[in-house]
Amino acid sequence: MSDLSQKTIDFINKPKQLLINGKWEFAVSGKTFPVVNPATGDVIAHAAEGDKADIDKAVTAARSALENPQWAAMTPSDRGKLIWRIGDLIEKYADELAELEALDNGKPFLVARAADVALSADMFHYMSGWATKLHGMTIPISKSGGSYLSYTRQEPVGVVGQIIPWNFPLLMAAWKLAPALTTGCAIVLKVAEETPLSALRLGEIMQEAGLPDGVVNIVTGFGETAGAALAAHPQVDKIAFTGSTEVGKLIVQAAAGNLKKVSLELGGKSPNIILKDADLDVAIAGAANAIFFNHGQCCNAGSRLYVAHEIFDKVTEGVAGIAKNIKLGSGLEAETEMGPLVSNTQLNRVCGYLESGFAQGAKAVCGGVKRDVDGYFVEPTVLINTTQEMKVVQEEIFGPVVAAMPFKEVDETLIRQANDSVYGLAAGVWTRDINKAHTLANHLKAGSVWINCYHVFDAALPFGGYKQSGWGREMGAAVLENYLETKAVTVKIG
Ligand code: ADP
Repeated sequence: MSDLSQKTIDFINKPKQLLINGKWEFAVSGKTFPVVNPATGDVIAHAAEGDKADIDKAVTAARSALENPQWAAMTPSDRGKLIWRIGDLIEKYADELAELEALDNGKPFLVARAADVALSADMFHYMSGWATKLHGMTIPISKSGGSYLSYTRQEPVGVVGQIIPWNFPLLMAAWKLAPALTTGCAIVLKVAEETPLSALRLGEIMQEAGLPDGVVNIVTGFGETAGAALAAHPQVDKIAFTGSTEVGKLIVQAAAGNLKKVSLELGGKSPNIILKDADLDVAIAGAANAIFFNHGQCCNAGSRLYVAHEIFDKVTEGVAGIAKNIKLGSGLEAETEMGPLVSNTQLNRVCGYLESGFAQGAKAVCGGVKRDVDGYFVEPTVLINTTQEMKVVQEEIFGPVVAAMPFKEVDETLIRQANDSVYGLAAGVWTRDINKAHTLANHLKAGSVWINCYHVFDAALPFGGYKQSGWGREMGAAVLENYLETKAVTVKIG
């Protein structure tokens, strides 16, 4: 599988442009930036470096698309069919899209094919059905002295800016675009500078599906320039962001200028709790998957592992045993189970956290080092001797590093420890005791709780965070709220 298909080679070799008002264009400045294969450090393409001038053009295009009857007057049924077609085309081009993800992000091709691409298609298919179901309500009101008919309408919020990260490049685009299209918004999507390729291919796919010009505009470029211009733009009605909590706070500040609506899907430091009665084979494999899936580059990674003290050694050695057998390599090699981290910056960040952990007394049962090769590889790592106040327990590492800690009882102390984080995105619980499972699920401050499983995502299930993990929800019916305004209409009768 290390040979790329001819279609992917042709796509890579084409100039990488911005999608603005249905046309592919170079950046106004003419500037480009390199796109790097993280498995080798080689430059594989050059993407257009969009900045404020390109964001201005894209926002103008989105605003006119919003008014264009081709989009504004499209029936909900036709909008739904169009969104469904995008899902079908993602399935049709699944191999090509998975190759782009493997090349650009570094993840294994088969994982990209089974997870990223499949879930992206699901997202469009699932959301298409909502296009015909966005209705308001009739509401009896208590005003005396007349007869009134009051009803609500659900209207698109308007021009939406969307800023996405590099860990699931295509899937994050799908999570953002599908619901915004369903609700009839017009969009400017700013993709991550590390991984622009699959979203550009998705732009072509949406055109092939028949999306009217200007409804989705795609800008590649840097966060501090293109991203910041989009977040601050006075003609943008809503900004939807996925990325770090640090940048999420900048987005909120930038959005304040015109008080645009904001939704945020941010960082996490999720507790994964294994009780002593758990099915250990399942829990150990589950704990390894919770942290090592996508090389730990998941905002919901199970990065704090709390294990009943009676089984602590068995579990940590079990997870380390799995880690040691994970085959690292290029995402394009068929046997690869874990690819490189996405960039040199990310490699340095993860290694910095490892050093900090060791300096504070943590010990690696396995891993703890980077690979001495060209790409950005770090060995999957299990840390023990970790305590609650250490940086490796408090801060998001965003790499394949889990900090394991024993606990004595399933009690308030455990719940307090699990909730002792500025984040609240996800949590895992492994037990055969239904009472303990639900008690923990009720008390954990997290947007998703997985019991005897982890990383279970579905287009129908809402996903998002408590505390500093974000505002609002992605997916499910809940995400539609991000992109709708509710209007109350009252008619005095007679
Ligand atoms: P990570 O730390 O995982 O790279 P970031 O939060 O830095 O995540 O990046 C996520 C997305 O936010 C990327 O598309 C990036 O370009 C964008 N971004 C970064 N800084 C800013 C900013 N100041 N304003 C708007 N977008 C930004």
